[in-house]
Amino acid sequence: MNPDNIRIVLVHTTHPGNIGGVARAMKNMGLHRLYLVAPASFPNEQANRRAVSADDLLDGAIVTDTLEEAIGDCQFVVGTSARERRIPWPLLDARQCAARVAEASAAEQVAVVFGREDRGLTNEELKQCNLHLNIPTSSEYSSLNLGMAVQIVAYELRMLRAAPEKPAVETENWDTPFASRENMERFYTHLEETLIDIDFLDPAAPRQLMSRLRRLYGRVRLDEMELNILRGILTETQKWVERDSKD
Ligand code: SAH
Repeated sequence: MNPDNIRIVLVHTTHPGNIGGVARAMKNMGLHRLYLVAPASFPNEQANRRAVSADDLLDGAIVTDTLEEAIGDCQFVVGTSARERRIPWPLLDARQCAARVAEASAAEQVAVVFGREDRGLTNEELKQCNLHLNIPTSSEYSSLNLGMAVQIVAYELRMLRAAPEKPAVETENWDTPFASRENMERFYTHLEETLIDIDFLDPAAPRQLMSRLRRLYGRVRLDEMELNILRGILTETQKWVERDSKD
């Protein structure tokens, strides 16, 4: 595991105190990269008070306007959610997920994304993630305080640091880097355009096609070479459609 490659991303946090609580939870567990997507108020005195000796993490926090900016260069993105969404996604608990995050962080940029206090992450945001993380709770009340949710995830990562080396994993020594979020988004745009060109996707009635394709590719995790091959196929397909339409 390489904590330098692991970032905690907080999306649209309302209460500055929670940002401070998150910074403290992270520093306690040896994480230090904090990203804030359009926080309601930052910097803020309350955040510093709650962070106590983790105020250096607040000073170093990176603030962005959008989630895309915060995770664009990541190859592996985990979205956290207190409840099941409409399209089931690969879903792991904090312990299982920590193992995947630790493994990926050895060579890749990894993000764990946390949502708004009142309504979590949107479906659109969750669809940008490779995996979803749910902390098991009582069925009566599944929504944890933001700082506490971060604490649990960070703790599970900590426990892995203390553990002996893991056995070899499927993607160890992979020959090509995994595709970044940015490049995956470009691919999805290209795929959607092409599917419209070949009349497979009706923009007037898209249904869940793109979501399902995102889920498929997110599960596979493409490397840059595989992504280029698929982009090449799309480009050639578009050329054929263009030629065909001129005949
Ligand atoms: N009402 C919101 C809960 C938001 S809690 C919802 O239904 O999604 C704020 C954030 O804390 C969530 O977006 C998530 O990042 C994290 N969180 C809270 N409870 C969680 C749980 N049980 N599992 C995983 N993440 C959780």
